[in-house]
Amino acid sequence: MNAPSILAERAAVPAAKPSLAGSTRAEIAEALRGLGLPEREIKMRVAQIWHWIYFRGATDFDQMLNIAKPMRAALAERFTLARPDIVAEQVSADGTRKWLLRMPKTGPFDKGAEIECVYIPEADRGTLCVSSQVGCTLTCSFCHTGTQKLVRNLTAAEIVGQVLVARDRLGDFPGGVAPKDGLVPAGEGVRAVSNIVFMGMGEPLYNFENVREAIAVLSDGEGLSLSRRRITVSTSGVVPQMAALGEQCGTMLAVSLHATNDKLRDTLVPLNKKYPIKDLLDACRTYPGASNARRITFEYVMLKGVNDTPAEARALVRLLKGLPAKINLIPFNPWPGTSYQCSDWETIERFSDIVFSAGYASPVRTPRGRDILAACGQLKSETEKLRARARLMLEESLALGQE
Ligand code: SAH
Ligand code: SF4
Repeated sequence: MNAPSILAERAAVPAAKPSLAGSTRAEIAEALRGLGLPEREIKMRVAQIWHWIYFRGATDFDQMLNIAKPMRAALAERFTLARPDIVAEQVSADGTRKWLLRMPKTGPFDKGAEIECVYIPEADRGTLCVSSQVGCTLTCSFCHTGTQKLVRNLTAAEIVGQVLVARDRLGDFPGGVAPKDGLVPAGEGVRAVSNIVFMGMGEPLYNFENVREAIAVLSDGEGLSLSRRRITVSTSGVVPQMAALGEQCGTMLAVSLHATNDKLRDTLVPLNKKYPIKDLLDACRTYPGASNARRITFEYVMLKGVNDTPAEARALVRLLKGLPAKINLIPFNPWPGTSYQCSDWETIERFSDIVFSAGYASPVRTPRGRDILAACGQLKSETEKLRARARLMLEESLALGQE
């Protein structure tokens, strides 16, 4: 008998069943049509399934008690409610959690994309920092994500999946139990995941359609019900998409400014060569929905000897004059191989004082989760280091075995 070829073996592996967790209403409707459900029933069934997935956090079709058993079985035969897998979890001393997530496979040859997602608890709220892409095609010189080779857009379901995983893990669905090993905000009306920031891996405005679909799911009042005012999308300055973000998503905007003149910003955020500071600030001035009650956040990473002089602090204030702005000074988080350093604390304070005197309150973002490398721009590196160590150990033990 001939040995089966590897290809034939592989082809025999059944394609993974798609997950409905993370789907839009239209996708769920399509799935039901595929099961042969009559058109007149679809809307009602979509509403039921939606409630189970996003309000109750169902992970199994059998939990959907108001759906008849044969239909639950038919759903389970074709679909799952799988979320991204938690490959690793790290909990910082300050309660910050970082998850390495593997996305459900789309087929037998898909190894499953990996991304990171960070949860930052505070006394009365919890912020989830989600990724919009695997890696990033932009190459900001101080950002570790930009050095990653593999890049692809996350689907809307993969973006929503990050929020489902976090709510599962933090006991944030009805009947859920919060983990005992760390700080999770609790109390009457307090939600563990109350805010979402698109500040993980990737440039959200380079994946606009999926981000928009994901925001529609996250903010749907019959499901996850996250207010659009509690969702912030951070961009490095994709000017042509900014108005669409405001009009179609109605979320808060954060802009990664990091420099006050084009010459420097060209080197820090190379996209600046395409959309220079003036164009970026014009787009901010006309950002739909921006007002004193809904300010635009300007992120400014503090790089030692690069962008941190008092003159630059004054230039920043001048530049943002007349804009409904908040300023977030972000201490630079170093990563292996970077040549940048974080500004000294006194320098940051001096910079912050100037910005503060101009009327911007408490602008320094306290670094969170530093002990687990969860802070901005550090996603992925630690895990890669751990993997490299594990590989080395494996190679060593193999070598020993051969001796
Ligand atoms: N691509 C988007 C969103 C993800 S980055 C953007 O650039 O806005 C989220 C924020 O972290 C951005 O302001 C980014 O400039 C900042 N950042 C990236 N690397 C960093 C690092 N090593 N230290 C501190 N902030 C960093
Ligand atoms: Fe991409 Fe944002 Fe990193 Fe720049 S800072 S490389 S846009 S993730």
